[in-house]
Parts: sequence; C-alpha cells; structure tokens
Amino acid sequence: MSDTSLPPSLSAILNHLGEDRSQYRRAVTPPIYQTSNFAFESVAVMRAAGKNEFGEAFYTRGNNPSVEILRRKLAALEGTEDALVLSSGAAAMAAAILGSVRSGEHVICVQKPYSWTRVLVRDWLPRLGIAFDFVDGSSTAAIAAAIRPQTRLLVLESPNSLTFETQDLAAVAAMAREHGIRTLCDNSYCSPLLQRPAELGIDLVAHSATKYLNGHSDVVAGVLCGSQALIKELFRGPYMTFGAIPAPFEAWLMLRGLRTLDLRLRRSCDSARQVLAFLRAHPRVRRVWYPPEPLGSGLLSFELDAHEGAEIEHFCDRLNCFLLAVSWGGHESLVWPLVAVLPDGNAQANRTGLPLGLIRLSIGLEDPAELIADLEQALAL
Ligand SMILES: *Cc1c(COP(=O)(O)O)cnc(C)c1O
Repeated sequence: MSDTSLPPSLSAILNHLGEDRSQYRRAVTPPIYQTSNFAFESVAVMRAAGKNEFGEAFYTRGNNPSVEILRRKLAALEGTEDALVLSSGAAAMAAAILGSVRSGEHVICVQKPYSWTRVLVRDWLPRLGIAFDFVDGSSTAAIAAAIRPQTRLLVLESPNSLTFETQDLAAVAAMAREHGIRTLCDNSYCSPLLQRPAELGIDLVAHSATKYLNGHSDVVAGVLCGSQALIKELFRGPYMTFGAIPAPFEAWLMLRGLRTLDLRLRRSCDSARQVLAFLRAHPRVRRVWYPPEPLGSGLLSFELDAHEGAEIEHFCDRLNCFLLAVSWGGHESLVWPLVAVLPDGNAQANRTGLPLGLIRLSIGLEDPAELIADLEQALAL
C-alpha cells in the first residue's frame, strides 16, 4: 500500500505519475493525441465538458491528453498544484508577466535576466502603461527599496544563465508576500531537481523546457508551475487568449525526454565539475563563473586570457567535441563565446560590461575525459 500523504518520489513522477495505461489499451508509452478537438456523445455531455476546458479534453488549445500527462508530471516535479505547458520559454514568461499586471502598475525585474525577458519588460510593458525597474537581485535590500505602492510583480531568475547571479529566493518571497506582490522565478538553470522555488515561497515558477526538461535539443517549449488558483487564472487569461500551446507531438517528445531527466542532469553536473576543476587549474583561464553549491548544473562560463577577439575565435573554432551554438541543456556539449554577438568580433564594440574573453560551455552527456581533452588541445594553441 502506498502512503498517499507522501509526495510521489522522483522516480515515480518520471516513470508513472499522470499515466493511466487502461485509457490507451495498456500501451506502455502514452499515445500522441494528435487531434485538435474532441467529440461528445450528447449535447449534455458536451455542455458539461465545455464548462471545464482546464481539466477536460474539449479543444486542444485548452487541454489535450498528451499535454495533460506532462502538466501533472511538471507540477509534481516543482511541488506545485498545477502547471501549464506553453510553446516556448519566452511564451511562458510573457504569459506570466502579462497575466499578472495591468496599466498603471509596476514590475520589478532582476538586472540581468534572460535577454528576451529583458526585452519584454523594457520594451513591451511601457507600451501597456506598466512601469518597471531593473534591480540588483543579489541584494534583497535593493529589491525592497524599489517597491512602490503600484508594484504587483517581481521577476526573478536565480541563477541566470550566463554569469549565474542568484537571489535569496526565500527572503525575497517572504518580503514580496508582505507587500502583496506576486513572485515569478525563471528556474530553467537549476531544473526542479536542484531547486524548487515554490517550496521557498515563490508563487510562479517558469522554465524554458527547451533546456533540461526536454534535454534533447529537439523541442522548444515552456512551463509555468504554481497553485491551482494561479494557474487557472493564467489559463483563462493569456494561455487561452494568446494560444501559445505546444503541439501534442512535442508534449510527447517532452515526456520521453523527462524519463531520463535525473540521469541526464546527474551526468551533466558531474562532468561540469570535472571541467571546472580543469579550467580553474589552467594558466590560460582567468576566472570561472558557476553558482554556489548546491545550485550548479551543467552550464558554466569562463574567461579566456586573450587580448583580441581573434584569439577567442581561434580557440572556439578549434574545439571538436563542443558545437558552436546558442541554447543549452541538451545531450550535446556546446560553446558560446561573447565575441559571437560583437559586430565583426570587434573588442571595442563590447559594451556588455562583461569581459571580452567570456565563453559559456554547456556540458552534455559525452565522456567528460573527451571534453577535457578537447579543451586542452584547443587551449594549447
Ligand atoms: C532559453 C531561455 C529562455 C527562453 O526559452 P525559449 O524556450 O528559448 O523560449 C528563458 N529563460 C532562460 C533562463 C533561458 O535560458
């Protein structure tokens, strides 16, 4: 007999939770419900189902059985009552932010969020008459000082995905709650395996599921997790209105990706620590960026001791095991140098406030010894 008062184990969530094999002819893997709508045997049944698009298979923009299994697993992973899956991480952040504030109100966002979160806050909120401030999130006092009577939402990202600054989520959540301010935290970097912001008092947890949750670099998707009341509010609002939903096939791919989340993350984290140790000891490495324990995942940055952009490009071009690409959190290791966003790699054009030699590595599932050997040969030249 299982004790229903205990939350399901990680293993139970990834392998079984939300799945009812009697519903689909005992197939071990749930089918892809590739359908836009669902038919009913009577008007009365249809009417009843239409009242609960959140929970019933009625129309796929609202609910679809392939997506619903995923929703249940994601909510359980974050320890929240419910979850929504969206067509991208950017869509999840946009739905959470636009669904939480209106004209005349004010949003506080951490200083260095994900680039498109910054664009949303900086360029789109003012168009809707919503004021904003970017503040140094590493200081809870700085966040407190930015609170106005009109502040309704705090946008957090801890750690961020380039230089890994963190916020004291528990302290910030408690302070926000006192002021009646909603908190939203982008938890893509840690995944729910390393950090569960809702347990620290955060109201809404967002993910770019494109990263660790799917983990195979073949789906772009986003997730929002929170209380059922909050998730239902966002469902009736931006979710149904903007319609940024995942395709059933993508939900199915994500289910497959989730099966190995624990294994993948352990491997990436373990390999990342080996790569970090190697980089820290290398004379051509000026510094490394990595979150404080135990938050570190498979994404890290370091500064190459180089005076010209060309040296950095040469290093990156020589890597064989690391693909030159944006994004992260997939099975494959990636490298992304800051110089990739500077016009012609020109050092003088660097107005990012970050060192020219900053290089980000996403450590995938390859043999860490091969990754380190690859870095070693590229650094040797
Ligand atoms: C990638 C990313 C996003 C955006 O997610 P998409 O799935 O690409 O839309 C948001 N936040 C963080 C921290 C990310 O790394």
